[in-house]
Order: sequence, then C-alpha cells, then structure tokens
Amino acid sequence: MSDTEIPLSRPDISRLEEELVLSVLRSGRLSIGPMQEEFERLVAERAGCDHAVAVSSGTAGLHLVLASLGIGPGDEVVTTPFSFIASSNAILMVGATPVFVDICPTSLNMDPRLLEAAITPRTRAILAVEAFGNPAYMHDYARIAAKHEIPLVEDCCEALGASSRGRRAGSFGRAGVFGFYPNKQITTGEGGMVVTDDPRLAESCRSLRNQGRAPTPASPRRGAPSPMNTGSWLAHDRLGYNYRLSEVNAAIGVAQMRRLDELLERRGRVANMYMERLLGVPDLVLPNSGEGDVFSWFVFVVRLAAGYSRDERDRVITGLRQHEIGAADYFPCIHLQPFYRDLFGFRPGRFPIAESVSARTVALPFFGDLSEREVDLVSQTLELMLKRESLKRS
Ligand SMILES: *Cc1c(COP(=O)(O)O)cnc(C)c1O
Repeated sequence: MSDTEIPLSRPDISRLEEELVLSVLRSGRLSIGPMQEEFERLVAERAGCDHAVAVSSGTAGLHLVLASLGIGPGDEVVTTPFSFIASSNAILMVGATPVFVDICPTSLNMDPRLLEAAITPRTRAILAVEAFGNPAYMHDYARIAAKHEIPLVEDCCEALGASSRGRRAGSFGRAGVFGFYPNKQITTGEGGMVVTDDPRLAESCRSLRNQGRAPTPASPRRGAPSPMNTGSWLAHDRLGYNYRLSEVNAAIGVAQMRRLDELLERRGRVANMYMERLLGVPDLVLPNSGEGDVFSWFVFVVRLAAGYSRDERDRVITGLRQHEIGAADYFPCIHLQPFYRDLFGFRPGRFPIAESVSARTVALPFFGDLSEREVDLVSQTLELMLKRESLKRS
C-alpha cells in the first residue's frame, strides 16, 4: 500500500483501545473474564436485548443460534442470496438447506412477499440480513415469522446502531448476531455477539461456545467453589465448539462500544459527504433508506444504472484501483458462488433482481476519518470512469 492509496476500509482505534488491551495483558487473565462480561453488557444494552453472548466471529454466532434452535438436516431456512457468504454458510454448517428468495431492488433486503411464498412445512427459520446496514422490512419479517410460528434469526452483522421505527437492529427476531471484523462499524479484530431476550437460547449459546460445558460464571463469587473443582467444568452434555472471544479482543470491543456514538456519527458524516457529492452524477443509484428507517453505515455502495453490464462495472472497479482507490464488488450472489452451484445446481437467472443488482454495485472507500478531500477525489475519479464507459458505448 502506498502513502497515497485510499483503502476500502480502515478501523478506528484510539488510545482507549490501547489502554484497555494493555490492562488485560497486565492482568494475567486472557480468556473468560470481566472484559467479556462488560462487552456483553454494553452490546445487549445497545441492541435493547436482555442477554448477549460474545463469540469468536459473526459466523460462529450464527452457527450457535441455528444449532441452539435445533435446526439440522432436512430443515429449510429461508434467506437472501445478496449477502456476505457467512449468512448462508451458517445454515450449511448445521446441515440444513438454505432456501433463497429474491430481493427488493431499492433496499436490497429480501422481498417480503417472495419470502412468505417460499415458506413450506419444512421451513424451520427465517435468516434475514440487513444488507449494508439497512433495516428495511425487518418489521415485516418479524410479522411473517410470528404468523408461521417459526423463529426469525437476524443477521445484523452489518447493522449495529441501525433502527426501524424506533426498534433497534438485533431486537427483531428470536436472536440477532453482530460481527466485529475490522471493516464493521466496530471491531474486535475478530469477534461476534449473539443478542436475545430468550434466557434459554442465551444459555445454550454460552454452553456451545465453550465445548458444551456447563456455563462458567466469568467472575465467581469469592469463596464459591470453582466449577473446575465441582466437576461441572468437564461436564459435556452435547457437541460444543470453541467459539470463545479472548479478553484481549473483548477489551477492544469495550473501548469501541464506549465510543460507538462517536464512531457512528463520523461514519454518518462521511456518508452524507458522498451523498451530496454524488447526488447529481448521471448513471448512479445511491443508497436509499425507507421512511422511519435509520441506516447504520457499514459500507458505501453505489450502483451503476440499469443498462450497465458486469464488464463495464468491473472496468470501473479496476480503474478506481489503478488510481489507488479501494473499490469492491459487494456482493457477488451467494447462489452463484462455485461451491453453491456445485452443491445445488444453481444457474444464472434464478434470482434476477439480486443478480442484476450484484452485477452493478461498486463499494467505495468508507471509514470514519475519510476526509472531504478524499471523498472528493474518489467521487471525481468515479465520475471519470463512468464518462470513459459511456464514451466507449457511443
Ligand atoms: C460480516 C458478516 C458476517 C460475519 O462475519 P465474520 O467474519 O464471521 O465475523 C455475517 N454476515 C454478514 C452479512 C456479514 O456482513
């Protein structure tokens, strides 16, 4: 990376993260400790949920929720093909079958009518994603799930801080799952969090993240017998995993959560700069939030107008990169990934809206301390690439 390069994303790490990480390193307690507890408390509070369970990644969190709900082979889970592949991989991890439904072209979330039509007697859950942090239709998904008496699992990995008509991302379904990879709104390096109001689901996730062990209190009461001495530490009543989050990662998370409002505010400011700068540019479709919906800005993704081909979009991305500007094709459709094609025989044309959108998206550099000058440079270069493409056509 050269000095002039503008990356696609960059984490926002301050002195507070450094101090809390150092305090963990000096404490001698590097896993299952007070930082994890504090991180869980902060995320639960923010999502408006009673319980939170920290895990090693967003994918791990989705896996534990589906496993805890008893979903397995022969079961169907309705989900979106327009997402990061983890949302659908979690369904495969428990041996269930993802049933994709096409998206709404404006919000890029599942079309509620198609979703309801895809429900069969074998459907055991709806796994909904807030694409790019857009909470559109979450109320509809919750209503459809309730009507069919199946759980809604909210993959809110891209939506920490979003809300719809006052209801917060993470609180729409039986459980929500956040992800903290370095490009998300907050990061722990690697990490994730399950949030839920259901105490039994929370307890199950706690156990499964720790090899199926009986839950271990992070801060045992002084004088209380240690679980390691009472036998429960080694009592495993089912197949579990090691999906624990270390205290070092949790410390980064605590610092990021304390700064969350500031981080979201800075991202919102950058998104507004892009909006103002790109509003008048012909052939561009900008992100669009619905009435009553509050976006949480995860990435800034623009779309080339209908009529642009995948090749033209790919050349725009290559052109941006040649100018040392990070750009990406968020997201390739999941059903057309080689692995999914091999497994299910999907071919192009199956989910036309998702495919058409996915062929024309361009993710631009996006992070809180992107300067106005950089936003301007990115926008100018993007405009240049678009002009180049339209000249080629005429
Ligand atoms: C980031 C993300 C995840 C989780 O990713 P991890 O890398 O496992 O933390 C899951 N679903 C979606 C939609 C995501 O964007």
